[in-house]
Amino acid sequence: MSVPYLLSSQAGHIPASQKIPVIAKPFVSEKAEKALDLVDRFVEEECIPAEAIFSQQLGQGTAHRFNAHPPVIEDLKRKAKELGLWNMFLPKNHFKESAGFSNLEYGLMAEYLGKSFIASEATNCAAPDTGNMEVLAKYGTREQKAQWLGPLLDGNIRSAFLMTEPQVASSDALNIEFSMKQDGDYWILDGQKWWSSGAGDNRCKLYIVMGKSDPNNPHTYKKHSVILVPANTPGVTVKRVLSVIGFDHAPHGHAHIIFNNVRVHKDNLILGQGRGFEVVQGRLGPGRIHHAMRTVGVAERALEYFIARSNDPTRRPFGKNLSEHGVMLERIAKSRIEIDSARLAVLNAAIKIDQGNTKDALKEIAEVKIQVPSMALEVLDRAMQAHGGAGVSQDTPLASMWADARTMRIVDGPDEVHMIQLGRNESKRGPNLLKKIGSQKHKTSELRKYYGLEERDTLELNRTSGTAKL
Ligand SMILES: Cc1cc2nc3c(=O)[nH]c(=O)nc-3n(C[C@H](O)[C@H](O)[C@H](O)COP(=O)(O)OP(=O)(O)OC[C@H]3O[C@@H](n4cnc5c(N)ncnc54)[C@H](O)[C@@H]3O)c2cc1C
Repeated sequence: MSVPYLLSSQAGHIPASQKIPVIAKPFVSEKAEKALDLVDRFVEEECIPAEAIFSQQLGQGTAHRFNAHPPVIEDLKRKAKELGLWNMFLPKNHFKESAGFSNLEYGLMAEYLGKSFIASEATNCAAPDTGNMEVLAKYGTREQKAQWLGPLLDGNIRSAFLMTEPQVASSDALNIEFSMKQDGDYWILDGQKWWSSGAGDNRCKLYIVMGKSDPNNPHTYKKHSVILVPANTPGVTVKRVLSVIGFDHAPHGHAHIIFNNVRVHKDNLILGQGRGFEVVQGRLGPGRIHHAMRTVGVAERALEYFIARSNDPTRRPFGKNLSEHGVMLERIAKSRIEIDSARLAVLNAAIKIDQGNTKDALKEIAEVKIQVPSMALEVLDRAMQAHGGAGVSQDTPLASMWADARTMRIVDGPDEVHMIQLGRNESKRGPNLLKKIGSQKHKTSELRKYYGLEERDTLELNRTSGTAKL
């Protein structure tokens, strides 16, 4: 594999393959190690320096920014393809379209991709296209794949996933009420969707839409369906794009979309009528772990900024580098521990998926879905603090990284929903634990009898008074 574009490695740079955690190493192929080193260098030496160019090429003004297509991203895509860094996200044991990596191997790469906000698109590994491509690869008909999966895998078009609605609490997907009514060979779609990520981009040609197709079905989870809607179908209007803590995320964008009497052929249904929940569940599992993987990279880049600033000899509050102030060293150490722990949890989830499937790893996925964004927010907060005013400005990437990481506590279901599920499942162990603790106490009583001891308070604090027998 040639590396015509990559600069020589910086002094002191440890190749990514040498930093693979010991517990993950046995599961990583030689091919993946080589690709991982390339991803690392591609991100550090090509994507990160191009970020400012991307932002500048977007230009000013909403209309302009959402119609812009920064040339630098196409140049990066071309370089990534030549390096073989393309579509690494499709796991090898599940898809014939895969680039040949496992979830674990892609997980290691996704951390590096997460360090730059343009690296995932540059390698065609960006959400929501990744999840949408998985849906098409997993459930699509031959025709659906030919029309949509091919162009998406080639990076020629983009796509959006439309589930959330402005008028209902969408973290409970049973509330989705977007209307789908059958009319002969067509479905008529009416309603609103928002937070349709990616639909701001004029290269977004496909919406994957969840709606209520059978409100009277007695089976709660068979009332909804998922259907493919070409973005240019008459009756579809992008009403506006939403900001994220003040950032517009152009040209990607998060759209609020109105559907008014939109007619879509029944062949566009995914899996069939009433199978919406199956599709959505199949999509969100891998999507959640991809977010977690990238967010570890976000935290790692924040820590790099933190350490660099702490050792900047031009910024010496009270006559010392920040790194000579103990509180900063403690924060750096805490960040290191938290990132390394979170990474292990993410890789563990990826290995679990590789060894079975997403369903087998629901607990591990939920854990990292909650743990990683909170960890990244803490690390970002410390890094921003160390930069003083610059940390909350546009002069470092930290503020926009913080805004992105904050959304991860809401995207793909808010923390609370995953917490409740995790807590509920843990709680199911209650009856068995009660039994176990009861039998341990019983055994203790028997041991007391055996050794001729009387029942006593274990601390024996010698503070008993009065004469009543206990
Ligand atoms: C940047 C961004 C990108 C997004 N991209 C997409 C996308 O591409 N496609 C898409 O369909 N959606 C997308 N979303 C939407 C996202 O998935 C929803 O916002 C999320 O599922 C929450 O739904 P909601 O906004 O309707 O909040 P609600 O359901 O109204 O919930 C509001 C709050 O209630 C609390 N809550 C909810 N359930 C419980 C509970 N069981 N116990 C205690 N508290 C609870 C939580 O704090 C929650 O944040 C995106 C959101 C953001 C911010």
